[in-house]
Amino acid sequence: MCCVALPFSASADFAVDKPGGKPCHNLLADFSCGIHANLRESGFAGCTVFDCFGAGQHLSQYTFGGVSWRQAPETAESMFAAFEVMRGLHELLWYLDDALGRDATASLHEDLRARRDEVAALTDGAAGELTEVDLGAERARTGDLLGEAGLLVRGPHGAQHRGADLVGRGLRGANLRAANLRGALLIAADLRGADLGFADLLGADLRDTDLRGAELTGALYLTQPQVAAARGDDTTRLPPGLLRPAQWG
Ligand code: SF4
Repeated sequence: MCCVALPFSASADFAVDKPGGKPCHNLLADFSCGIHANLRESGFAGCTVFDCFGAGQHLSQYTFGGVSWRQAPETAESMFAAFEVMRGLHELLWYLDDALGRDATASLHEDLRARRDEVAALTDGAAGELTEVDLGAERARTGDLLGEAGLLVRGPHGAQHRGADLVGRGLRGANLRAANLRGALLIAADLRGADLGFADLLGADLRDTDLRGAELTGALYLTQPQVAAARGDDTTRLPPGLLRPAQWG
């Protein structure tokens, strides 16, 4: 689904332009990637950091009279439109599960579970219903609750860098423990050896951020695509559940 539905622009992450809805030229007939083992070397680094949070698999289960979208090309367009919404909803579920997995948020578990149930119910809609979902409104509703939960985990004393422009900043060894770094631009920042334990990293841009030797244990709302877009090594300490990207060596 991801290799067909999404558009790419030729850039450092994708070697070619590809319009949405058109299969990537590397996609094989069995829906596997023909250059899977050499994506970075082949100019498709973006594919190694993309994660649909299970949305593609979820939509792949949809059938139309018992027939999948792959076998019913006339349904493909509505499936592609639904994909973006499904991915956004699955990402929200991932954040809510992170918040629910923290002991410190126990007083909010009822609200978090209720919000999770609402979002999960939206993912059960038909393709046509999904495209009617106001993803921005769902993000706003969920974001406030995630912020409240994050504060319970972080405590009130962490540094405030929400939305800060820290592009290329030298922050080697910085104490950012329990900091609010939501939506911060940390592109190519030097965070070697920095303490980001229990920091809120929801939506932080970590492209080419140097996390070698950084402490990220307990970091909130950190996703696999963020980790995959950053630089790190075997001394970078990640929260449980996140994988060390192969390119970190
Ligand atoms: S290069 Fe491979 S993983 Fe990337 S979009 Fe094309 S088929 Fe999919």
